[in-house]
Amino acid sequence: MTDIERFITDMPKCELHVHLEGTLEPEMKFALAQRNQISLAHGSVAELRASYDFTDLPSFLGIYYDGMRVLLKELDFYDLTYAYLAKAASQNIRYAEMFFDPQAHTARGVSFDTVIRGIRRAQLDAETRLGVRTQLIMCFLRDWSAEFAMATLLEALPYKEWIIGVGLDSDEKNNPPIKFRDVFARAREERFLLTMHCDVDQENSTRHIRQCLDEIDVARIDHGVNVLEDPVLIEAVRSRAIGLTVCPISNGYVTDSTKSAEIAKFLELGIRVTVNSDDPAYFGAYLTENLLRVQEEVHLDRAALTQLVRNSFEIAWLPRRTKDAYLAELASYTA
Ligand SMILES: [Zn+2]
Repeated sequence: MTDIERFITDMPKCELHVHLEGTLEPEMKFALAQRNQISLAHGSVAELRASYDFTDLPSFLGIYYDGMRVLLKELDFYDLTYAYLAKAASQNIRYAEMFFDPQAHTARGVSFDTVIRGIRRAQLDAETRLGVRTQLIMCFLRDWSAEFAMATLLEALPYKEWIIGVGLDSDEKNNPPIKFRDVFARAREERFLLTMHCDVDQENSTRHIRQCLDEIDVARIDHGVNVLEDPVLIEAVRSRAIGLTVCPISNGYVTDSTKSAEIAKFLELGIRVTVNSDDPAYFGAYLTENLLRVQEEVHLDRAALTQLVRNSFEIAWLPRRTKDAYLAELASYTA
């Protein structure tokens, strides 16, 4: 391992764009399928892994939703979450904000309560046993109706203390941010923090980013790489200190590149860009591997790598004091 690789590997880190359902490793999919007596289309872990060959967002989503069929009981959600957090701890991730997709489960007849209790219990155990602090972000599926999203928001209200914010994910095509304007307005009234996916190189990417900023008034954008196409968006994101949660290896699967050069450009422009893993089990890469990939492609120095991680802690949805403690830990590591 080179010095810079060691530097990345041992760094205290922060993950802000990871879908819990996207951390379902093939081995766990098989184990849960067996426990729940569900038959799978693939005969082995190797065969299943080989099927993870995506070319765009829809081809990824098909395999992603199929994977969730094995998640039925509270213990399944516990095991999924705890396994991810054990992996996160092994990469020295000190703090993570994790997305979950309740509609992908409630639509299959699994109750909201089952999903969130399993996740919550794993979060508490991981914090005590592994020292990884986490918060949850509830995502709405944008290819379903706004009514279903609103019903899900209302269903989540009794569990409000367990959810820091709401987001929007799944297939962006023909599903613009404004479709969910009322849902996000209500979420804001309920004091949830707001983020949304603006996936990379979509139809109308810049229009969707503009809607996120002007009509939804998000605090962050998940992905958002296409901001660079429009000087007005660049200025808006910079002046409002909007964080971007970019996922290089995921980009490499569903677009023409990892967009590492764009990450370097955002750093140069003083925009709060961050590096994250998205769906690590499906893209075969957790946070460390994503940082290593960017470093390998655009040769960031230690200062730039530190800035990326500093940005993550800065835009995290944490009280100032807590952020400062993590930033101090990072500063003493890099000193
Ligand atoms: Zn995502």
